[in-house]
Amino acid sequence: MANSELQKLNGVGAATISQLNSLGLFTIQDLCFHLPNTYQNKTKVTPISNLDIGEEALIEGEVVSVQAIYRPRKMLVAKISDGYSYLNLRLFYFHPNQTRQFQKGLSIRCYGKTSLSKYGLEMIHPDYEINQKLPPLQKTLNPTYRICKGISQNKIKKFIQEAIKVYDFEDEAINLNHYGDDNALSIKDALEIIHNPSADIPIDDLIPGGTHPARVKLLKEELIAFQTGMVSLRSKMKTSKAEPCIENGSWREDFLSMFPYELTAAQSRVESEINKDLIKSEPMMRLVQGDVGSGKTAVAVLAATKALDSNFQAAFMAPTTLLAQQHFENIKNFFPNHIDEIELLTSGLTKSVRKKILEKIKLGKIKFIVGTHAIFQADVEYCNLALAIIDEQHRFGVNQRLALIKKTENQNIHPHQLTLTATPIPRTLSMSIYANMDVSVIDEMPPGRQPIITSMLSMQSKENLISRTREAISKDSLIYWICPLVEESETLDLSSVTQTHEILCDEFGEDKVGLVHGKLSKDSKNEEIDKFRDGKTKILVSTTVIEVGVDVPDADIMIIENAERFGLAQLHQLRGRVGRGSKQSYCILLHKDKLNEVSSERLDVLCQTQDGFKIAEKDLEIRGPGEIMGAQQTGIVPFKYANLIRDSRYLEETKLIAEKIFNEDRQLANKLIKRWVSGSMAYADA
Ligand code: ADP
Ligand code: MG
Repeated sequence: MANSELQKLNGVGAATISQLNSLGLFTIQDLCFHLPNTYQNKTKVTPISNLDIGEEALIEGEVVSVQAIYRPRKMLVAKISDGYSYLNLRLFYFHPNQTRQFQKGLSIRCYGKTSLSKYGLEMIHPDYEINQKLPPLQKTLNPTYRICKGISQNKIKKFIQEAIKVYDFEDEAINLNHYGDDNALSIKDALEIIHNPSADIPIDDLIPGGTHPARVKLLKEELIAFQTGMVSLRSKMKTSKAEPCIENGSWREDFLSMFPYELTAAQSRVESEINKDLIKSEPMMRLVQGDVGSGKTAVAVLAATKALDSNFQAAFMAPTTLLAQQHFENIKNFFPNHIDEIELLTSGLTKSVRKKILEKIKLGKIKFIVGTHAIFQADVEYCNLALAIIDEQHRFGVNQRLALIKKTENQNIHPHQLTLTATPIPRTLSMSIYANMDVSVIDEMPPGRQPIITSMLSMQSKENLISRTREAISKDSLIYWICPLVEESETLDLSSVTQTHEILCDEFGEDKVGLVHGKLSKDSKNEEIDKFRDGKTKILVSTTVIEVGVDVPDADIMIIENAERFGLAQLHQLRGRVGRGSKQSYCILLHKDKLNEVSSERLDVLCQTQDGFKIAEKDLEIRGPGEIMGAQQTGIVPFKYANLIRDSRYLEETKLIAEKIFNEDRQLANKLIKRWVSGSMAYADA
């Protein structure tokens, strides 16, 4: 087993390994570099009367009463008093013995987010401990990590602490001070600080975007490693060859007869730019930028037909299984005469099915391969891959990009590479990051699209929104209702979607409201989306799993809760799920009541424009990093820690350092790339 390395850790067995894998953690090093999203300050108690709605805090009190309620759905409600005020603790998921745990008179300590319902102050699924007498308060900040079912915060903390102890960081060997990185901390020091910060360090300095030297150390080294990888890639590509794709044949004819629209002028232009590259015997490295909904898929599939008609294989890689499936279904429809030569390859297949598919790929019987990163895993052997298409490429880390290139190399023959992105990377950034790529821009939308009317609405008006929703449904609207992903807490995250789902079910009936989140199986996810697409459900409550590429042309209303917690690029992506048909579409940005100036300015940008480039520029200008959730979620992020917009000031410096390292010390360059670029291949397989 490739990941047996994790077994070295105490308490890690096969089940835990597969859970860690699902978080993208395959090695001890991966664990060390799994940084907290944020921290909880559990070092001081807040009186209930001083709690702020929407903020997290620690409270202490006594259990006054507890009851399991069955309306509308089973839940547990415990009433707590701190001697002055009351608060309700509400659990949607609980075990019968949890009811017995909440004995009247026992002391309780809770950490969670305060909310307000018609019954008063509440905390939904807080962390809590109950006892006769509570233990002393913590003295250090409490890191919270991205976790999953089976891996609690406590567990992952323990694994990470042990991982740091046993891992050999090779800090002596990978010392960049000589190359102009003046940070005195070693990677090990930096990680120790980030995973165990003392309570006097401001949390803002430690979280993504923070300025603590430990944070800066990590993100700069990541940038240097990435740039070193790019330099080495560029030097490699200069000497390699590709298969020229020159033929037109039945694949292309199939597509042209099945595609229901005329190509837009921009699509045609980009198509011919691509074709000029494809006929060459040096590998194409082209990035197609086109706003959400501009029709990048058609352009990519047309490129694939060139390779296919020239009797080569083509591969189409999507960032999530959901999206891969959707592409696969669409693509099959385009090629009725080639159904047997198109296959979907994701990590969810059974061994025997996978084996059969791999066999056919190797023999060249399957020509068009659609899938997730699974299509470039070690055991996949291509017969004659001539074109690799990578959709929504900002979603793939540098890991995947380099692995892809390594994987597809065959006696110095490389496939042509076509990457598609909706992320409007400002020119200056793309120059320094993707300097090895040519860029084509689809700068025109298919005809007949009306602008999406976008407005901001305070959470206070949610009731009002629900009645407007009723009206919309009666007019056959299809509505997405997005709740934010709370990365650090799966339960909080779930409670926010399930809570909203529940409220909406009460209002509109269970058969009208669908629910999608990351914890559902792939099949149930697809089922929910299909029901929505068919109009069986009218509202689809979802986390951001639907963010990338999901295409339901009839959906016309997008409601986003807590919009202030998303990055602008991400909001733009989400909004792009509507306005795809000819109907007038709407986007409603629900935000918390007291919105600060920066946040309201940011959301206003979305109301004013739908131009992805303008939005990205404004985002740069206003830049409210404290308000942006995780670096991963802002869109333009091929990185674990660095964020090209937020950290653009480091780009020049790190590029120079990278070039120097590559030219002067190849061994160091390789070590550095290995530290940052090897490791996990599973990334966004949500
Ligand atoms: P994206 O660029 O976001 O990947 P898609 O390729 O998913 O966009 O296309 C969005 C929608 O626009 C799809 O429903 C697609 O069928 C449609 N579309 C693509 N090209 C055209 C065109 N030339 N005219 C009309 N509709 C088009
Ligand atoms: Mg797309």
